[in-house]
Amino acid sequence: MTDDNCIFCRIAGGTIPSATLYEDEQFRVILDLGPASRGHALILPKEHFEDVCQLDEGIAAKVLPLGAKIGAAMKKALGCAGFNLVQNNGKAAGQTVSHFHMHVIPRYEDGPSMVSWIPGEITSEELEEVAETIKKSL
Ligand code: 5GP
Ligand code: ZN
Repeated sequence: MTDDNCIFCRIAGGTIPSATLYEDEQFRVILDLGPASRGHALILPKEHFEDVCQLDEGIAAKVLPLGAKIGAAMKKALGCAGFNLVQNNGKAAGQTVSHFHMHVIPRYEDGPSMVSWIPGEITSEELEEVAETIKKSL
């Protein structure tokens, strides 16, 4: 299913033009309009899923291999030293478009640098307690 009010549905379906670097029956991979680095791409399923929790399992199984394919092509074509696969779920996690997407962000030796988290500290008892808490909802 697609949603006419969703910008990524319209881009993935081709109604809104985009710099497309890959397309098949289920996906369109486009360049991000606000790139974190040269070549920053977005993997968009053509069907509308709000986030990873809603994603069809068949589509989900193809996302990571596609990310690897695009990332490998970036290393070859753009000369990046590595790449990040980033996927945000929910506003609090930085998701700004409510249509599942995976970022493929090329990383170059000379930057740009990107914000990472600051490692915290935790005791083994606290680790155990948090793990047990999450396990209960699996
Ligand atoms: P999020 O923050 O939801 O994980 O990522 C949304 C991404 O989509 C952002 O990096 C933003 O620059 C990109 N974006 C938003 N609107 C458009 C658009 O209309 N076209 C393209 N190509 N990228 C978009
Ligand atoms: Zn959509």
